[in-house]
Amino acid sequence: MSEEKTYLELLARRDIKPTAIRLLVLKELALADRAFSLLDLEDRLVTVDKSTLFRTLTLFLGHHLIHAIDDGSGSLKYALCSSECDCEMDDLHTHFYCEACHRTFCLKQVHVPRVTLPEGFTARSVNFVVKGLCSDCARRRRP
Ligand SMILES: [Zn+2]
Ligand SMILES: [Zn+2]
Ligand SMILES: [Zn+2]
Repeated sequence: MSEEKTYLELLARRDIKPTAIRLLVLKELALADRAFSLLDLEDRLVTVDKSTLFRTLTLFLGHHLIHAIDDGSGSLKYALCSSECDCEMDDLHTHFYCEACHRTFCLKQVHVPRVTLPEGFTARSVNFVVKGLCSDCARRRRP
């Protein structure tokens, strides 16, 4: 019950009206230790149809409840924002894409590096993805 309340508060803080589906999607993202693609979410939430799922994610994105990650795999991944995140340049963290298991992780402690742009250039977004082996896969490969 208190867990339910946490999710309701998360939605309220981002000015999102709670619905059963929104709570379901939020819970799935909140409990995940990695970022999910639309397809990942579809597989997990079989009762929710794809267009509803997509609309929910779009709404969450617009309210900065989640952020989208282009990890170069061809499908966007989504992960929950920290409570103080406004998805501004200063809030952005690095992501890690595992080339073996194809999972994408938020490295929330690792801020994206500051890039000095040439005169007259303005940055609107930055996408910093490190690729390699996650700890699970690295362990598996060790003899
Ligand atoms: Zn954010
Ligand atoms: Zn891996
Ligand atoms: Zn992230």
